[in-house]
Amino acid sequence: MAARAALLARTAVAVALAGGGVGCARLALAPGMTAAALQATAVVPWAAAADLPRRSEVEAGQLVIHADFPLAGQHRLVRDLENLRADVSQYLDMPISDEPVHLYLFETPQRYDAFVARQFPTFPARRAFFVETDTTLAVFAAWQDRLAEDLRHETTHGYVHAVVPTVPLWLDEGIAEFFEVPRADAGLHHGHVAHLSGRILEGTWRPDLSRMEALASAGELSQDHYAEAWCWVHWMLRTTPERRRLLQDYLASVRRDTAAPPLSVALRHAPGTPSDLAAALRGHVESLAAAAGER
Ligand SMILES: [Zn+2]
Repeated sequence: MAARAALLARTAVAVALAGGGVGCARLALAPGMTAAALQATAVVPWAAAADLPRRSEVEAGQLVIHADFPLAGQHRLVRDLENLRADVSQYLDMPISDEPVHLYLFETPQRYDAFVARQFPTFPARRAFFVETDTTLAVFAAWQDRLAEDLRHETTHGYVHAVVPTVPLWLDEGIAEFFEVPRADAGLHHGHVAHLSGRILEGTWRPDLSRMEALASAGELSQDHYAEAWCWVHWMLRTTPERRRLLQDYLASVRRDTAAPPLSVALRHAPGTPSDLAAALRGHVESLAAAAGER
């Protein structure tokens, strides 16, 4: 815990949001912004806010779920998020952390909107978001139709940041998009396959990992970026054991050294990497789209 706090002290506070047309838009606050500064944007620090959900509290593995309404520990949502922890750890070969991830669930979007407007007045309107400071990992969300998907996305950020707090923006979102789909889909995001297939038909998609790695703030991320980030992650985790290992090794290197060389460099030098990566990614999407069409 002490090591993590020290590491985070050198980084910007990261905030990830779900909602709007593109699922989640993580906000990387201005460089140098500290946890104290983030807290200062709130009227009072959120942990002390009177209008936080407090009616029930459920602990589930690493999660501490605070809700406005009675929430049983055996609720399907709770079990799903517990299983997610093991899935994230296994796919990414990351250790399981005991650091708490707090989930604050509001009974109605109105309650949630009022809380966010009061506590985080500079945030854009979203259905859910993830906040990381040097002492806290927290997710805020309202009970609504897409809650399960939003919680899987934001909680994935929590599980990953508990172990690799400095994960690059593009990869952070690609991983969260991979895990937000129902568990039975094993990372296959039908919306992104359809979106990228459309781009391929238009001839307007040229995947470029270096360009993804250059993305520095959530404000730059479009739906194309989320879809491409997901696609790189899916291609690495679901095609060959070697690619999966490469992504796992990269995450381990970022965990040890925040200045680790980017994934694109490791990928370029790995044996068996296709000479035309853009064509490989397009081919991956086309095969997923064809498989979907045959079902
Ligand atoms: Zn996100």
